[in-house]
Amino acid sequence: MVDELNVPKHVIILGAGPAGLAVGHEFTVQGGRVTVLERNPYVGGLCVTVQDQGYKFDIGGHRWFTKNEHLNNWFRRLMEGEIVMVERISRIYHHGKFFNYPIAFGDVIKNTDPLTVLHAGFSFLWVTLQQSVSPKDIRNMRDAYVAQFGVKLYEMFFEQYSEKVWGKPCEELSSDWVSQRSKGLSVFSLVKNALLSPKQKAVSLIEEFMYPRDGYVRIPERMAEDIVKAGSTVKLNSAVTRIVYHGPNDFEVFYGEGESAGSVRGDAIVSTIPLGHLARFMEPACAPEVIEAARRLKFRDLVTINLRLKKKQVTPDTWLYVQDRSIIFGRIHEPKNWSKAMVPDDEHTSLVLECFCTRGDDIWSLSDEEIAQRCVDALADKLKFIDRSEVVGFQAVRTIQAYPVYDMDYQDNIATVMSFLNTLKGVHIVGRGGTFRYNNADHSIEMGLLLGRKLLGYNVDHMSVNTESTYQEIIKEGETITRDHYSASDAPAKKSKTIVVD
Ligand SMILES: Cc1cc2nc3c(=O)[nH]c(=O)nc-3n(C[C@H](O)[C@H](O)[C@H](O)COP(=O)(O)OP(=O)(O)OC[C@H]3O[C@@H](n4cnc5c(N)ncnc54)[C@H](O)[C@@H]3O)c2cc1C
Repeated sequence: MVDELNVPKHVIILGAGPAGLAVGHEFTVQGGRVTVLERNPYVGGLCVTVQDQGYKFDIGGHRWFTKNEHLNNWFRRLMEGEIVMVERISRIYHHGKFFNYPIAFGDVIKNTDPLTVLHAGFSFLWVTLQQSVSPKDIRNMRDAYVAQFGVKLYEMFFEQYSEKVWGKPCEELSSDWVSQRSKGLSVFSLVKNALLSPKQKAVSLIEEFMYPRDGYVRIPERMAEDIVKAGSTVKLNSAVTRIVYHGPNDFEVFYGEGESAGSVRGDAIVSTIPLGHLARFMEPACAPEVIEAARRLKFRDLVTINLRLKKKQVTPDTWLYVQDRSIIFGRIHEPKNWSKAMVPDDEHTSLVLECFCTRGDDIWSLSDEEIAQRCVDALADKLKFIDRSEVVGFQAVRTIQAYPVYDMDYQDNIATVMSFLNTLKGVHIVGRGGTFRYNNADHSIEMGLLLGRKLLGYNVDHMSVNTESTYQEIIKEGETITRDHYSASDAPAKKSKTIVVD
């Protein structure tokens, strides 16, 4: 049943990333009114694509992937005429060698000495035996990886990369990230995957994905275009600074500074800004213990070096994961391998080098030139991918709040913050930083579409997204996931009183 009586008249959406725009898209397509406030001079959040002298760069390659066919259909409608298909080729660079990912048996044997192969095999068998006889408590990220892959494979393929991404030892990180990202991805399934023909695979990792031809930002841009077309507002350069709660369903949001400062009043708030910030922006202010918990919800930041090259192609990879601690970047992608439209002509290519860091740390404090120089040195001297003379130029992009850090206390801190926010009628959270959940863009969009429908009075639960118990990339034979129907052709008509929830 649709509860039309409580549909808000004016929804204020904080943040114009995929989540906020998806809420606005769904709500306005069906006649609602929103104002979206965004601190940046562009829409897209982490899904922005920056341009530099005819080249286009995502903040780290963003692929579209979801197991939800309704969401795929929604995506195809939104991006009609702009989608290209990309073949996935991923590799891991470890100890000077390249390993295919998913793991290919021949590769491991070719690239590793027999003693290491035996060591990996025995440590995996040992942990499998141990877990089936007397399962050990999984207390942290290290425990979770070891329980799944054994100590040796953890040390070879997960330890260094995880510590690069998170900037902490795996013992100080929650196991939740591992269960979200690799549950069901056992050594057995990977080995089986490597041995079986594509037809025989019961469990497979996706090998092809959809991508917007001119960069991932086209997805948020398309949503923003529709919101504005529907008569609502997307205000850029409008950082939210405080939110006054006048009472149930009555908010005033202050944004911007100086001459461009302003405020807007509405009867519902949808927040995609970092969860801890939302709590701290609220007036009347929350209790000191809530403020403390809010401060403890930390993010990891990112510097990406966008390198322009006079070269046709560097590698055929979609992604290359780089483990060695001595190399400043953790991941590379070559935009031209995703879409030819990402480079000005076929004689040139480019690379995006992801350097994970925290504002103020050793990497963040380096100048753009120093970071770029270290990237070029590693590419030329260690990976042997380029010659220095092929570098045409670079651009550094500094991105804050890129990764919510699942430390050992994050769930308690979220619970404390939520105990305060839940007392404010009309506040809704959604998205990656907004819910402090390690969302992909499709999760944030799906959550947003569902929240849009919830605001329209439908009985749906947007918080159920990205809580599946198996790794999102694994497709089991015959599996289809459907949560809801989204707007346009498969949505019920606006005034319909019923909704099908699969
Ligand atoms: C390197 C990297 C690679 C990734 N690769 C993939 C991929 O391949 N596939 C995939 O699906 N996902 C990928 N992701 C994840 C994807 O980027 C996020 O899931 C998605 O952007 C989350 O959308 P969101 O709207 O929830 O949050 P965000 O994109 O973070 O949007 C939040 C918005 O709120 C704004 N904001 C914050 N504070 C304020 C304020 N005070 N006032 C106003 N506005 C504010 C921000 O500027 C931002 O625009 C990747 C992420 C990174 C960092």
